[in-house]
Amino acid sequence: MSTFRSRALQETLNRSSVHVPEAKIRSEYFASHVFNDKNMRQYLTKEAYKGVVNAIKHGSRIDRKIADQVATSMKNWALTKGVTHYTHWFQPLTGGTAEKHDAFFELLDDGSPMEKFGGNELVQQEPDASSFPSGGIRNTFEARGYTAWDPTSPAFVYGTTLCIPTIFVAYTGEALDNKTPLLRALQAVDKHATAVAKYFDKTVSKVNASLGWEQEYFLIDKALAYSRPDIVLTGRTLLGHSSAKGQQLDDHYFGSIPQRVLSFMIELESECMKLGIPVKTRHNEVAPNQFELAPIYEEANLAVDHNALLMDIMGKVASNHQLKVLLHEKPFAGINGSGKHNNWSLSTDHGVNLLSPGKTPMRNLQFLTFFVNTIKAIHQYEALMRAEVASASNDHRLGANEAPPAIMSVFIGAQLTSVLGELENVTDGKLSPEEKTDLKLNVVGKIPEILLDNTDRNRTSPFAFTGNKFEFRAVGSMANCATPMTVLNTIVAKQLKDFKVAVDKLIDKKELKKDEAIFNVLREYIKDSRDILFEGNGYSKEWEEEAARRGLSNNKTTPEAIRAKVSERAIGLYAEMEVMNEKELRARHEIELEAYSLRIQIEGRVLGDVALNHVIPTAVNYQNTLIKNVKGLKEVFGKEFESIAREQLDLIKKISEHISGITQNTNAMVEERKKANVTRDEAKKATLYCEKVKPYFEKIRYHCDKLELMIDDELWPLVKYREMLFTR
Ligand code: ADP
Ligand code: MG
Repeated sequence: MSTFRSRALQETLNRSSVHVPEAKIRSEYFASHVFNDKNMRQYLTKEAYKGVVNAIKHGSRIDRKIADQVATSMKNWALTKGVTHYTHWFQPLTGGTAEKHDAFFELLDDGSPMEKFGGNELVQQEPDASSFPSGGIRNTFEARGYTAWDPTSPAFVYGTTLCIPTIFVAYTGEALDNKTPLLRALQAVDKHATAVAKYFDKTVSKVNASLGWEQEYFLIDKALAYSRPDIVLTGRTLLGHSSAKGQQLDDHYFGSIPQRVLSFMIELESECMKLGIPVKTRHNEVAPNQFELAPIYEEANLAVDHNALLMDIMGKVASNHQLKVLLHEKPFAGINGSGKHNNWSLSTDHGVNLLSPGKTPMRNLQFLTFFVNTIKAIHQYEALMRAEVASASNDHRLGANEAPPAIMSVFIGAQLTSVLGELENVTDGKLSPEEKTDLKLNVVGKIPEILLDNTDRNRTSPFAFTGNKFEFRAVGSMANCATPMTVLNTIVAKQLKDFKVAVDKLIDKKELKKDEAIFNVLREYIKDSRDILFEGNGYSKEWEEEAARRGLSNNKTTPEAIRAKVSERAIGLYAEMEVMNEKELRARHEIELEAYSLRIQIEGRVLGDVALNHVIPTAVNYQNTLIKNVKGLKEVFGKEFESIAREQLDLIKKISEHISGITQNTNAMVEERKKANVTRDEAKKATLYCEKVKPYFEKIRYHCDKLELMIDDELWPLVKYREMLFTR
């Protein structure tokens, strides 16, 4: 057998027996490595504590003196954890996280050593970050970038480093990261949701967005994963014949977790616990060797950081267990891909979930207000929602016969559909006392407090209401949650702002009572938003046709989809909500186009290399064996040989056909790549990569996968699907 593949397989067989670590009581060490409220109270002076809390709650500035005190206390706390370094931890536009470690260690003037960390180092740093994508914002020497402490996400200790969550911005003020727009969007939704929530409870002074993500991933034996150049370089398999057994028996989903995986999960979860990531659920997913992890939901900013941190930790912990985590949305053809459902809701500073019905009609009217406004927001900005989850890797899910479709729609369940139907008939203008009573008792009053059992049935919907939250399912498993959370909170903020204006106008002009005005506006919104509601099968051909009739966009590829990000409407929206200005949006658009082209370019190169350097030589090798065999048969059987060697001859011919198929398509792909590469305009370039280069992947793969089935298993150089997917 090919040395590389056989060595990898041998290595997996030799894995020593799995040691499943002992699980500890979680509440005893939860957040032990976080500089949270409890630690702040213990380590900070009263004055410093107050300063930080004010900054967290009201966004007030922290002055230098306080910053110095906080830094010193943070350092003292960190030293008790054996920490030697600190870093400003941030989330650049690569989608990942970034860190540069500096030691606390200093030499004083007299040469004596000590550990130092001051307010200056805590508050602001200037990373030499010229290599981070900026989309042209940081082209000039003057436009340098700096990281700034975000006190709303607590510092934490990972390994021997104190990590300080920061935002990353240019000196000219533009955001260079994923967190800055998120924080601005959360501010916008707080402002406008609070104003609307005051209709129902005047004492509300803050609204928080919550996020509970569900992270799907694959785990593959490390030796097997590293034996495949495509997995190493692109995070997915570019070729490989499907395994005879895949997920068709549905025997993996919720099945018992394999021992080695369990030991990985226990260590991962224990790391998460220390870092205050409240992981709660783990289970096998649908595809073989696919799993899911979900935490208890948290305030959105913190949840975004926790997911980014988790993705980083997962890789490190997996390595300890001789495993490799694949976060790619579609690592294997023919079986399910991975997503990251973003469960989202809004709640007040009194802890009331605005997307949850309650016991009283008033509480239910509040629920309907936020519910209908969210639906309307999605309808208004469906193309933008799609755009903000677009990536080269997520294209394999959205619009590729994979869950969910590229068309945005909202699923709400039969019960709420009928409630909205009744609200549509509310009288225009003033309501009679009878009508009001009827509405309150028979429509609003009838919404059950618990809707959970009546919804969540439709797994094909990209945006579903699941009882007390909306679940955005189109988010890719590799994505940084900041992006989907930024768009969702921004469009809902804008929608709530418009709603308040409309309601206030009716109260002023038509002298309607507050609840009458709310009913009137909601009625119009429900009528306006009908087209975004869909309860049927999101994967069906009929829905594609129906959605087209409804005027919903269906952008199947990233270059197409992300145009919506720089549409006039999007620019107006983000500017009005003060989330991103036009320059920032255009920069992001440019970065994403470039990232798209680069990803497809790399995949094309890797596929070409593997096809030419691994597959073809193996095919030729095997063909030679067959030729030798045929020659031998001729020698032995003379005239009769042709009928005896018919299959071998046929196979020899077929192998030649596939070899030529690979060669021709690879050459043609290289030519298209050359054309794309000399295109200056990033949008055109991405479109060329999408429409001209990428289609060759399937063609090349087809011939390679056929050869995999024909060629002696002993000779095949690449670890096969069945070996990767069923080794545990
Ligand atoms: P599933 O979608 O797999 O059936 P659940 O619906 O129970 O699982 O929960 C999925 C995720 O939704 C979890 O991360 C959970 O914390 C989160 N979640 C639950 N309630 C809310 C809420 N009100 N707001 C935001 N996220 C929530
Ligand atoms: Mg879910």
